[in-house]
Amino acid sequence: RAAKSKYKRILLKLSGEALTGDAEFGIDPQVLDRMALEIGQLVGIGVQVGIVVGGGNLFRGAALHEAGMERVTGDHMGMLATVMNALAMRDALERSNIRSRVMSAIPMSGVVEHYDRRTGIRYLTSGDVVLFSAGTGNPFFTTDSAACLRGIEIDADVVIKATKVDGVYDRDPVKHPEAQKYERLTYDECLDQKLGVMDLTAICLVRDHDMPVRVFNMNKPGALLNLVMGGKEGTLIDR
Ligand code: UDP
Repeated sequence: RAAKSKYKRILLKLSGEALTGDAEFGIDPQVLDRMALEIGQLVGIGVQVGIVVGGGNLFRGAALHEAGMERVTGDHMGMLATVMNALAMRDALERSNIRSRVMSAIPMSGVVEHYDRRTGIRYLTSGDVVLFSAGTGNPFFTTDSAACLRGIEIDADVVIKATKVDGVYDRDPVKHPEAQKYERLTYDECLDQKLGVMDLTAICLVRDHDMPVRVFNMNKPGALLNLVMGGKEGTLIDR
């Protein structure tokens, strides 16, 4: 069954904001349930799914710093926020009978497992969804970088970044209706044109390791499955 999908192992990046839904802040359980459904479809056809969740719906280090907090403390809070989101996501997945595990880059004994690459790969191979939380474990990084890092580490076929719009555009499509979508971009075009798809650290990482990235709209029902089956969704970034 898995032979039909284009990708056997994926790393899906879900931003914290994506979990908020229509609410202003926090987590919308209905959004999580919908995502669990989409992820379950992949698991159902034998795709191995690793997930990195963001934390921007709760805390962002840079924003806390602007409000006067020490940056590193803010980043620690941001990373803890990603663990909360991962717990909520695991809860939704398990409620849909999708076996899942949370690993954290920061040890948090009694709450979640500490990240270990080989163990994570073993879980993926056995069909469990693995949520990699706490980003990279280091301040001054983003969960986009964490997604690229984990994707490369677990030898994923692709890093898939879920956004609210259908790919990468030449300008903000929400503000500019005439914005043009890119079907495909090279790593260097992303860097040179400062398209803001991901931070530069993340793009340099995938470029150095030739890891393809696909940016797509997670709010479009069925898009994730279509993408994994080889359909044209969003924007492909590669060499
Ligand atoms: N963060 C960090 N190191 C990492 C990943 C995340 O310090 O490796 C912190 C950082 O403060 C960031 C916050 O966690 O602002 C939440 O992550 P991010 O902003 O990437 O979440 P998203 O925008 O995807 O919701």
